[in-house]
Amino acid sequence: MRYPIDLHIHTNNNPHAYSTLEENIRSAQAKNMEVIAITNHGPALQDSPHWWSLMNMRVLPEYVGTLRVLKGVETNVVDENGNFDINQRIYDVMDIILCGFHTIEAYGDPRDIIRNTKALVNMINSQKIDIVVHMGNPTFPIEYERVIEEAVKNGVAIEINNSSLRESRKGSKPNCKKILELCKKHDCTISLGTDSHISYDIGEFEEADKLIEETGYPRERIINYSKENLENFLKMRKGKKRKVL
Ligand SMILES: [Zn+2]
Ligand SMILES: [Zn+2]
Repeated sequence: MRYPIDLHIHTNNNPHAYSTLEENIRSAQAKNMEVIAITNHGPALQDSPHWWSLMNMRVLPEYVGTLRVLKGVETNVVDENGNFDINQRIYDVMDIILCGFHTIEAYGDPRDIIRNTKALVNMINSQKIDIVVHMGNPTFPIEYERVIEEAVKNGVAIEINNSSLRESRKGSKPNCKKILELCKKHDCTISLGTDSHISYDIGEFEEADKLIEETGYPRERIINYSKENLENFLKMRKGKKRKVL
């Protein structure tokens, strides 16, 4: 099925992405999308925008025509104690906060499954983030069930990343299937992101939707299924969020 919401999109404020904000918006409008989230990388990644660029997302309009544009950021886990790489000024501007592992110097060795699991559990527990992204990445082994149980307890969503099932993070697919099966078992909310680095990919969830079909995860439980689901999720998250500092 087509989903009217895409919660993970990059603009060329990250130089490894190729479309401007406006090109992304036009593409989403042409595809009759209802909501998109612009989620550029947090400052710890080599190719991140300057932190002013994230903070200044306050100038973005809430709607362009009928398209809702959420201000977001894809933060980096920087240690195992529940810390990420944005400050309070960026945090306060954002409608939605994604978080995940990327290969950054600050975090160091990605191969320790116990440390990775602890890092995500503490991050979720901190209530500073809304969605854990691309957890199926085999570069960062994780005890999925432990993290998913924590996500359920804290009302945090787990992302299925369409790009992980295509050109990025090779070897993610079997892990993503496992994650979806565990989310189904524990009734954990999932979110879909295309992780678009070019405007044409916005809203294209074909690979993710195939996996959803295979695992039988109920589509109507997915945040991206409807604007109503998204609004309920954001409202619930607002009630739980804590200050960064
Ligand atoms: Zn990422
Ligand atoms: Zn991304």
